[in-house]
Amino acid sequence: MRRVVIIGAGIGGLASALLLANAGLEVVVCEAGATPGGKLRHAVAGGVRIDAGPTVLTMLPVFQAIFASAGARLEDYVAVERLDVLARHAWEGVRSLDLFDDTARNVAAIGEFAGAKAALGYKAFAARSKKIYEILDGSFMQIAQPGLAGLVLRSGVSLMNISPFATLWGELGTYFANPRLRQLFGRYATYCGSSPFNAPATLMLIAHAEQRGVWRVQGGMFALARAFEAAAQARGVQFLYNAPVQDILIASGRACGVKLNNGEVLPADAVVANTELGALAGGLLGAAAQQAVAGSMKGAVRSFSAKTWAMTGSISGNFQPAHHNVFFSEDYPAEFAQLAAGQMPADPTVYLCAPEPGAFFALINAPANGDAPQVEAFPPCLTRVMKKLQDCGLRLTPTAVTAAQPRQFATMFPGSGGALYGRALTGWRDSFARPGTRTKLPGLFLAGGSVHPGPGLPMAAISGRLAASAVMDFCARSRTVVMPGGISTPSAMTGGRRAQL
Ligand SMILES: Cc1cc2nc3c(=O)[nH]c(=O)nc-3n(C[C@H](O)[C@H](O)[C@H](O)COP(=O)(O)OP(=O)(O)OC[C@H]3O[C@@H](n4cnc5c(N)ncnc54)[C@H](O)[C@@H]3O)c2cc1C
Repeated sequence: MRRVVIIGAGIGGLASALLLANAGLEVVVCEAGATPGGKLRHAVAGGVRIDAGPTVLTMLPVFQAIFASAGARLEDYVAVERLDVLARHAWEGVRSLDLFDDTARNVAAIGEFAGAKAALGYKAFAARSKKIYEILDGSFMQIAQPGLAGLVLRSGVSLMNISPFATLWGELGTYFANPRLRQLFGRYATYCGSSPFNAPATLMLIAHAEQRGVWRVQGGMFALARAFEAAAQARGVQFLYNAPVQDILIASGRACGVKLNNGEVLPADAVVANTELGALAGGLLGAAAQQAVAGSMKGAVRSFSAKTWAMTGSISGNFQPAHHNVFFSEDYPAEFAQLAAGQMPADPTVYLCAPEPGAFFALINAPANGDAPQVEAFPPCLTRVMKKLQDCGLRLTPTAVTAAQPRQFATMFPGSGGALYGRALTGWRDSFARPGTRTKLPGLFLAGGSVHPGPGLPMAAISGRLAASAVMDFCARSRTVVMPGGISTPSAMTGGRRAQL
């Protein structure tokens, strides 16, 4: 039986592990932390477990399809519920605006909020974002190494149809004269840790991804990580927690295993790195791995980090929170100019999740300076956050707060500097600059939010599926190697069962 070691139990690593084990390979996942999920994590505040990583679950069919490929049903492991209100949006001194998972309801809501012309603008925008989503779903997101030329050939459409050359902010101006609507839809760039002022307009496809559904996970988002873990364990995957990998080992010019921090060596026919690309490129997993991804970070600008607060508390005021809420800054250009200059915004846009009564998770974007010697202290920031909520009609009185900032993210996700979404999208080239799953080192594969197709749970899960597919292909074609010192991988080539992915 072929053995694969996966470094990291983020969603990309978990998806790979599930699929590879189902295909008959022996899979060991080495995770530096104590639990699966990586960024998909919770924090404890006042004794309550509150999601403190991703909270917006989109593209559920991606996860269902991965489970189905492994002969399982996602719903047997975790309960999900579709939300009809995608998010509630607030500004100071004006009424709030809900977006729904139904375009017709949005047309009506936007018409009431900003008039008939804005409603027509939204209708055109929704149609355009749907078109871009549909073009890129099959020709980019699900494809292993999509170059620009390949994309054009596969989709058979002109590049102009996906607006890679305009900025999101600029393009939104052609649909929305209302600055608040432009701000609302421009915020989608931050889902990739990027600024709407230089990210390509292609990112408007995220609006359509949300239109296709946003789900709430019963028991919290972290239950999704546990679902993957349980399904993988049922297929024989071995999870080693508190097991950081120090080095990716090579023999005969290919990856042949890993060395843990405690000195233990795990031989393998293939290795999947679900770490930050920056960790490999920065040499944190050894010189061979560094060489394997040489050049892949060229020209990369870090995506945003965040300051986050998981809180218990009580609320009052005339703003009733939905599950997802956004409280916008008064001056979007100034906010992103400050972030670009490496500063915390004076007036930040605040995302607030209210998963259950009395529990909250707040997030603001922050520069990814978690490895810099000095970062801004917390208290003034939380004060600003609370003031923003209050100015929009929500008074939140916390009873317990657990905070995280770029410095913690940089430590939790080595090689990131605190950046949470890989490289930022600062122009059309960046989407194509992310490496695919294959590296220059045979037997070493990549999965996760910093490689193709990019960040976000569904995208990172797709990267895990692409990695599993490439590993199976590799194992079917190559022979087992003997490691230096005579430690061999568990068995000779057996040509293990291959699954349809
Ligand atoms: C605060 C926050 C909010 C977000 N909001 C959303 C959202 O609402 N919706 C959404 O879809 N996405 C969101 N994202 C993005 C999403 O969480 C990520 O894109 C995705 O989870 C990344 O998954 P990954 O596969 O790259 O693995 P990661 O989550 O990056 O996990 C990698 C794992 O590798 C481990 N590791 C690293 N180095 C080693 C080593 N040497 N040895 C062993 N293990 C190692 C780490 O401990 C970690 O567990 C958010 C992210 C954050 C942080």
